[in-house]
Amino acid sequence: MTSPLVIAIDGPSGSGKSSVSRAVARELGLQYLDTGSMYRAMTWFMQDQNVDLDDPQAIASYAKQAQILPSTNPSAPGIHVGPIDVSQPIRGDEVTAGVSRVSAVPEVRALLVDLQREVVAAAQEGIVAEGRDIGPVVLPNASLKIFLTADEDARAIRRAAENGEDVQATQEQLASRDKADSTRKASPLVQAEDAVVVDTTHMNLQEVVDHIITLVRSL
Ligand code: C5P
Repeated sequence: MTSPLVIAIDGPSGSGKSSVSRAVARELGLQYLDTGSMYRAMTWFMQDQNVDLDDPQAIASYAKQAQILPSTNPSAPGIHVGPIDVSQPIRGDEVTAGVSRVSAVPEVRALLVDLQREVVAAAQEGIVAEGRDIGPVVLPNASLKIFLTADEDARAIRRAAENGEDVQATQEQLASRDKADSTRKASPLVQAEDAVVVDTTHMNLQEVVDHIITLVRSL
């Protein structure tokens, strides 16, 4: 029996990871895992419990209580914390402003990386997993590793259009989150050595998806 196809897609905020990963999963009939939504759900939980996000020890001790349940259907992605559907609130400004502090806590990463590996192992039809450390850390044996990039202006314009926000403010928010994610001690955003870099600055969604599917077919 051949092992299921596992595609790891990493890259900074606004590189198009989520749209690309979902579309690739849909076109290839694979499941989909948005690991950013797991860090966001963990952040929502901490805020709901009034945990001080400037206190990594408090975050570490509460993290075990969070029951994070991502959906892996690329046509209906979403996430629950216990019985609560947090798919909408995790996209709000409060969570976005707090997530880099929560995702920098090593105990949070250890818990969520274990959970991510469990989800991937259970996906018998194969899976596309997206995040910041999927290729280098979470799934070093993935069938294909992609690192998506785009220049900062393009990323800000796309993210602002998605959220109906101001481009300048979005650009500042992205730059500060990129910096926090790239300079943290625990598993910073880095490119896996064996990743294929895809610069999406001058490509539309379908062009990126077609390119990745061509890479998959040539495996
Ligand atoms: O991808 P998204 O912007 O939703 O990710 C939210 C945050 O989650 C990132 O800014 C980063 O701090 C964290 N993250 C991470 N590792 C991942 C995915 C996301 O640290 N694999």
